[in-house]
Amino acid sequence: MFGFIVAALLAEFALNLIHYPFLWLLPPCFYLLERFPPGDFLWVRQFLQISDGASPLGRAKMLEGCLPGAGLSFAAVPSVPAFDLPHATFKRLLQNYLGIVGHRLPHTHHCGGSHVVQLDGDNSHHIQVCPMLGRGKLAHDELKNSLAHALLACGVASEVRTEVRLSARGEDGVGLTYNGDLVYFLPDGRRVLLECSRLTITQSSIAGSGSLAGPSSVLNLLRIAENARRDHARASAIVENDEGNTLFIPIVLTSCGGFGPSARAFLKEVFKTAQANGRWAMASGQPEVLTTWNTFYASTYWNMRLSVAGAVMDAHVQNDILLRDRTRNLVVVGRQPHPNPNHSSYSSVGRPRRGVTAAPLGVV
Ligand SMILES: [Zn+2]
Repeated sequence: MFGFIVAALLAEFALNLIHYPFLWLLPPCFYLLERFPPGDFLWVRQFLQISDGASPLGRAKMLEGCLPGAGLSFAAVPSVPAFDLPHATFKRLLQNYLGIVGHRLPHTHHCGGSHVVQLDGDNSHHIQVCPMLGRGKLAHDELKNSLAHALLACGVASEVRTEVRLSARGEDGVGLTYNGDLVYFLPDGRRVLLECSRLTITQSSIAGSGSLAGPSSVLNLLRIAENARRDHARASAIVENDEGNTLFIPIVLTSCGGFGPSARAFLKEVFKTAQANGRWAMASGQPEVLTTWNTFYASTYWNMRLSVAGAVMDAHVQNDILLRDRTRNLVVVGRQPHPNPNHSSYSSVGRPRRGVTAAPLGVV
């Protein structure tokens, strides 16, 4: 019966082909429309139009947003602790992603010790790269620790060690040491050394990088950063001394969570291992990890988790730096004059009380 229906349909199709000779064009057209929806073309055209008129930094931020993994924090469902972030952090995250300064300019910034700088103009984005309060290290460590969890949970290694001091003999015969971010061993006995780092796309990082050059300029910045890690004298000495038994893999992410080519290729292998180990589906394979409805699989969950980790921690500390600036800029702190000209510190009513805050001088 079924064979008869198929034969009838085929016969009808053949008859139609005779009457309408261009009918055979329909299936490839449907295929092409599905494969390349017109909406995508419109989107690309719009993207190019906007990026043509954007500033070099704006264009670089648009390209950064196209990287795999970039901005996944905005798709994170805050129903598990790993993706639960305060509103202020989310706001700062969005400002970083869009390349917006996010605070009033000019801004008096306290950058370590008694060093005070006025942020305006070229240094407006300084908070995104400020070393205060351990911003860079905290974000880096968050990424590194999340990656260690990813490797363990996906069954890549039974043990993953962080901050491992490795020693080797340099070219001049003198011993040297290198602090590896993550070290683990493959089943065949080879050692894997991962070096995590983050790249912030700012006015200064794109300066001279040819970000006007083409759509792969941000990707090239990531490649340059990866090669710089590989060519590091101490890292290459460690690899060479081990006679090919150590694999050095640079994991470079942008500050918005976009993966560099090396990180992407590495994670692909990690997810393949997860599949082979029966750890692909999060609920059954990695039950100890709390997942959300849009991260059912190892790849979706850990891509999002790694993208979120550094970006959110960075945004969190940037808010702390801004809060610290505002506190230090308060009149009652830091030996600044009181805004009230009748104020005297020696009078009984004029003594500052704890918890009292005043507007900065000149602000009513
Ligand atoms: Zn600073």
